[in-house]
Amino acid sequence: MKVIIVGGVAAGAGAAARLRRLSEDCEILLLEKGDFISYANCGLPYHLGGVIADRENLLVMPPARFAAWLNVDVRLRHEVTAIDPAKKVVTVRTPEGVREESYDKLLLATGAEPRSGAPHGEGRVMHLWTMADMDRIAAKLAGARRAVIVGGGFIGLETAENLRHRGLAVTLLQRSGHVLPTFDAEMAQPLAAELRSLGVDLRFGASVAEYDETPDEVTVKLADGSAIAADVVIECIGVQPASQLARAAGLRCGERGHIAVDEYLQTSDPDIYAAGDAVEVVDPVFGGPIAIPLAGPANKQGRIAAANMLGGKVPYRGSLGASVVRVGSLTAAGVGWTEARLKAAGKPYTKIYLHPASSASYYPGSGRLSMKLMFGADGTIYGAQIVGSAGVDKRIDTIAQAMRARRTAPELGEIELAYAPPYSSAKDPVNFAGFIAENVLSGLSDVVYPDTIPADAQVLDVREPEEHELGAIPGAVNIPLGELRRRLGELDRGRLIVTCCQVGLRGYLAERILKQHGFRAANLSGGWMTWRMFHPEPAAPAAPAAPAEPEAAPEPPPMADAPLLDVRGLACP
Ligand code: FAD
Repeated sequence: MKVIIVGGVAAGAGAAARLRRLSEDCEILLLEKGDFISYANCGLPYHLGGVIADRENLLVMPPARFAAWLNVDVRLRHEVTAIDPAKKVVTVRTPEGVREESYDKLLLATGAEPRSGAPHGEGRVMHLWTMADMDRIAAKLAGARRAVIVGGGFIGLETAENLRHRGLAVTLLQRSGHVLPTFDAEMAQPLAAELRSLGVDLRFGASVAEYDETPDEVTVKLADGSAIAADVVIECIGVQPASQLARAAGLRCGERGHIAVDEYLQTSDPDIYAAGDAVEVVDPVFGGPIAIPLAGPANKQGRIAAANMLGGKVPYRGSLGASVVRVGSLTAAGVGWTEARLKAAGKPYTKIYLHPASSASYYPGSGRLSMKLMFGADGTIYGAQIVGSAGVDKRIDTIAQAMRARRTAPELGEIELAYAPPYSSAKDPVNFAGFIAENVLSGLSDVVYPDTIPADAQVLDVREPEEHELGAIPGAVNIPLGELRRRLGELDRGRLIVTCCQVGLRGYLAERILKQHGFRAANLSGGWMTWRMFHPEPAAPAAPAAPAEPEAAPEPPPMADAPLLDVRGLACP
């Protein structure tokens, strides 16, 4: 049997390796239009920042080793330009000319392509998507002092931080009002503050109208009429599936252009499979199609497609989109649906916020997590987001696995997790999320949020006066929890009492006291810390990071000395 794989990075290289491990007999031809296969595109921003110093470390498996170890015929600079499913032939543009190759089974692992914004030349406005892109940017960075990053998604954030780490003045332009579109606005808010503390000039509501390039610099003209001069601009404004081949061959594609596959990753042609960023799969939360352009799904799909091309029946059970990113001293991670998406789709949901300690609070190094969990009336978990300084990744991974196993939100309270003071608490933050969800779903606790406190409610702050004085909800009455039972007469029985404390726990205790004394009460979910996420401190005016004249450029502000994440151990391509 002859298998042709189109695309040689995450899904394609993984599929080739798995194919060979499963069968010594099949002929495997790996066609890659670029100069590299099997490299760690997830590590590209970190090489630009100097964290991954040795470029060669990004090359996971060089073509020669692929051939020697796996007996895979790897052909670089070979672009498949057409598929003839009836004849089972692909047309390939090679350095030597155009030729045809026949196949028994074909795997499309063509990935995604970065979107482009305003028109620009081939000079100083670039994308960071491939090794070649990274090399091009690295060349332009020599002597550069000012960078503009367009787009504050994962790659934009990582690139901004890494270029700051390298000492450049960095401006990050974000069209919407918050970074990380896969996060809800209030949960992304701490990242904005962190970026600013790293010295990034972060601008919201900023959309690029035009680039004006000269040999010496590029001027980024914004829709509001302002302009920023830079030495390099890196556009990180999202991706689109590289599915042109599939569409031209008449394979079924989804509404947004992704290749449609069944649970065995088979396309509408039984001899053609597809995997990775180019495909849409099943959304395990609500069913329906979803496209998750991430390395984990791509690698796993490549592995599964390989088995199925050899006659296996291994199902791919969909992607939840578990993702994580580091920004300075913070980590942000999410899984499943955001609240914004639930709202837009008209799905009813309940949400809770909590701000537990990442490890035993008495243990040195313990930090604060801010967590948001969304679920349905039957407890089905729809999504979660976490931001904090430590232990974020393992909590989101735990929730992701609970979602995968169709555990309900209250059942998070039962999950048994390893515990010792440096790592967690006897009741892990994930357990706490489950307890709170159970209290809310059972009706023991009613929650309100900073943007849903009724105008006629009486807000009761049950923190100590010293805490209240440091900042409180406007108009809140302060009665510390310890004094509440004897000061109930000070509260208005005719109004809803919204209890509030620092993180939600004392507020919940107060809510229970009040309800048992005949008051109508609800707790502000996550307390003052949640309020602060909805009402952040106004940003300090940013230092001018990108002056108009290169020679007038001030020294870029120094970067805090925090080491960047070393992602060499990251399991991506
Ligand atoms: P790709 O890895 O893009 O590979 C597709 C290959 O197909 C390309 O090499 C392309 O040249 C080739 N190709 C396309 N068309 C043809 C054709 N017609 N003929 C021949 N060859 C063709 N994901 C995470 O989960 N975590 C991260 O931290 C993370 N960081 C990232 C950082 C960066 C800078 C980038 C760019 C991506 C990052 N990702 C991350 C995303 C992750 O790398 C992708 O989801 C993953 O690589 C997708 O794998 P794929 O095989 O589908 O596509």
